[in-house]
Amino acid sequence: MVRSDVKSNRVGRATLATGGVTTAYRAVAAFECVQCARAIAPGALFSRQPRRTPPGAFGMTATDPICVTCRPLRLETTSE
Ligand SMILES: [Zn+2]
Repeated sequence: MVRSDVKSNRVGRATLATGGVTTAYRAVAAFECVQCARAIAPGALFSRQPRRTPPGAFGMTATDPICVTCRPLRLETTSE
């Protein structure tokens, strides 16, 4: 069974330019940003947003990758 999640590693929490918080991922394989359609290269940071699912697709929790150009983020440091 192949899940799309295996192509990225969870890095940790990140702060968005809007002040919100999201989960940052590091790409293991190449992704395509859903907003600008540019490639997210392996090793690059990116975030995800929930995919809009049509009515009736209850239970679907797919997410789409967004590059840091479209959605700038800053990793939160875990050492305090
Ligand atoms: Zn983008």
